[in-house]
Amino acid sequence: MFVFLLASFGLLSASITNATPLENRAAVDTCLSDKKVPVFASGSADYTQAIRPFNLRVTFKPAAYAVPKTVADVQNAVACGAANSVLVTAKSGGHSYASHGLGGEDGHLIVDMRNFNTVTVDAVAHTAVIGTGGRLGNIATSLYSQSKQAISHGTCPGVGLGGLSLHGGYGLISRKYGLTLDNILSAEVVLANSTVVNASTTENSDLFWALRGAGAAFGIVTNFKFKTFTAPENNIVFQYSVSPSSAAGLSTALNALQDFTRNTQPPELNMRLFLSGFTTFSGVYYGSRADFDKLMNPLLTKMGISNGFGSITTNSWLNTLTSFSNGALVQTSPYATYETFFSKSLMPEYLTPAAIDALSTYWYNNARTNSRSWYLLFDCHGGTQSAITNVSADATAYAHRNATFKMQFYDRVSNGYPGSTYDPSWMPFLNGWIDKITAASPAGTNFGMYINYADTSLSKDDAHKHYWLGHYDRLVSIKGAYDPKRVFEGPQLVGS
Ligand SMILES: Cc1cc2nc3c(=O)[nH]c(=O)nc-3n(C[C@H](O)[C@H](O)[C@H](O)COP(=O)(O)OP(=O)(O)OC[C@H]3O[C@@H](n4cnc5c(N)ncnc54)[C@H](O)[C@@H]3O)c2cc1C
Repeated sequence: MFVFLLASFGLLSASITNATPLENRAAVDTCLSDKKVPVFASGSADYTQAIRPFNLRVTFKPAAYAVPKTVADVQNAVACGAANSVLVTAKSGGHSYASHGLGGEDGHLIVDMRNFNTVTVDAVAHTAVIGTGGRLGNIATSLYSQSKQAISHGTCPGVGLGGLSLHGGYGLISRKYGLTLDNILSAEVVLANSTVVNASTTENSDLFWALRGAGAAFGIVTNFKFKTFTAPENNIVFQYSVSPSSAAGLSTALNALQDFTRNTQPPELNMRLFLSGFTTFSGVYYGSRADFDKLMNPLLTKMGISNGFGSITTNSWLNTLTSFSNGALVQTSPYATYETFFSKSLMPEYLTPAAIDALSTYWYNNARTNSRSWYLLFDCHGGTQSAITNVSADATAYAHRNATFKMQFYDRVSNGYPGSTYDPSWMPFLNGWIDKITAASPAGTNFGMYINYADTSLSKDDAHKHYWLGHYDRLVSIKGAYDPKRVFEGPQLVGS
């Protein structure tokens, strides 16, 4: 009761220090209500739907759930959290593998950015200002329908712009135009002290550096200004079936693929090997069919893929996106696609032949016989001709410029069928795979990992070490300047 009274007179911050989490939670509710910040009340149908994360394995109960409509609402929400010692977390699309958009643990004030979803294009300047709460499919469709523009982004149309852009953003045209974060010109950010600033190479440049790779720990971004490009049409979309019949066969394919990506793969070619119960090699080429054949045929031969066993079609930009989207681009509300899974990542610059053999042997002996719906995805991220690699290593906080592959290890049950659970005793399946690869690699190898594939099994120290590599210390120092009281914190975020 005492807390309620103080809250209503705006006298909270000093007195609340010894309050219990329950009292803090009540005080936050009161503060949000006093400041007229829209919320989803705990227990309401909206709230219940909103706290269902994409990964149903990792659920959390927030302290409060704000759904701001204006930048002032975001500022007030941050102020309410900070004044009441409740950690504040922005949520965009809710697709974090570790449910970091719900705080990554119980008890956060969630600031759901769903209402910040406008897309305003300047087709002459080739720029667009885009709200961080939009989903990728809607954003792509809007950019295209307004003036045939596009940005570089990920494949899943339900992913939110906020999380994707602040931590990476690899997709179907990244080798030509870079990651999503490489195309951010500026960001509007609500800081921990609830002020609003712009961040760019000329304003708050240290914050701008940190936002592009580790953004969640530094503020709530309300919108980004992006560089756009004119959407390419007549794109060659390809998919081949691959059937390695032995560990040695898979090693041959992977060695050939790694060599090609590192040395030969042009920026116009984006591709991925999807290793699973069925295995495919697919991608997009932004060029002519004749050039595509000339480029790919020698690689396919080296990988042991029959050129005749696949599909090659020519597609418009939106159809290109749809070819990889597992459904319609346009996303409706409420969002209701879920999975139940455990996932890990590796961002290797080079896998030695011994490491590839260890990977292949584990696949042959352990993975093929696993009846769950697992996969291992190799996105061909880098190499000498990739736009990602050609940004200097320290230009942004993103720490994986030299990665050849972006590898995603994913183990799921029943495609997220509601009620299905992932038994923790299954986690050693993927952990063991990474251990084998690491053990077969040169001593001291520290493979990077991708926070956009957040791995719940990492300790916070391991998460810091693998997600941000040599950039971590600088990030901690910038965190100290912009969020000294650690308002934006989560189990694996910078400074946690
Ligand atoms: C089906 C699927 C497909 C995917 N495909 C790709 C892909 O092709 N390429 C790729 O690179 N990644 C891909 N990802 C990974 C994806 O990029 C990450 O999961 C990303 O973090 C999701 O962003 P979100 O906003 O949806 O998630 P959220 O859970 O809402 O947020 C993720 C993190 O970002 C923070 N955050 C979100 N919005 C803001 C904001 N406005 N200000 C500050 N912090 C914010 C959150 O606090 C949280 O820490 C995929 C994920 C899924 C589930």
